[in-house]
Amino acid sequence: MIDEMYIRGVEVNYYFVCKTKLWLFSHNVSLEKESDLVKLGKLVHKEFYRKDRKDVRIGPIAIDVVRKGNELEIQEVKKAKSMEKADLFQMLYYLFYLSNLGIPARGRITYPKSREVVNVELDEKRLRDLEEILREIDGLKRGKMPKPVRKKHCRKCAYFEFCFAG
Ligand code: SF4
Repeated sequence: MIDEMYIRGVEVNYYFVCKTKLWLFSHNVSLEKESDLVKLGKLVHKEFYRKDRKDVRIGPIAIDVVRKGNELEIQEVKKAKSMEKADLFQMLYYLFYLSNLGIPARGRITYPKSREVVNVELDEKRLRDLEEILREIDGLKRGKMPKPVRKKHCRKCAYFEFCFAG
């Protein structure tokens, strides 16, 4: 069980976005810092959550946590709903990670652009799906780099030139 605890939250997200991206990122080919979109995401994040939050790093996960009474709430701010499933499972992974440490929490994903909020809880069905996904991520990371397949969002990806230049 502990192996899957070394998976980073963003890797769960990339599993849905692109398997090549997941592999590159997990092998420390990290071009993400250079992406304007990533910078923009950080800016949006700061703008909407200036107060009342704490950045917490526990092992491979980095989360924004707010205490709501006796419970913790993990908050994620996302630019757009286009990768909703990726966002959902990234959040479920955080909840799973914390629950394995004996810390119950709930999640809240905010999409400021569309002014939507999605509340997330980890139930039995989602837990089973997540565990399967974590096994697949582990296998992907240990295998060879999946061949890049051009998709709509490739142009916006920090790895675009790496995958398709020349
Ligand atoms: S450019 Fe496209 S194929 Fe390459 S890592 Fe990014 S999303 Fe994946």
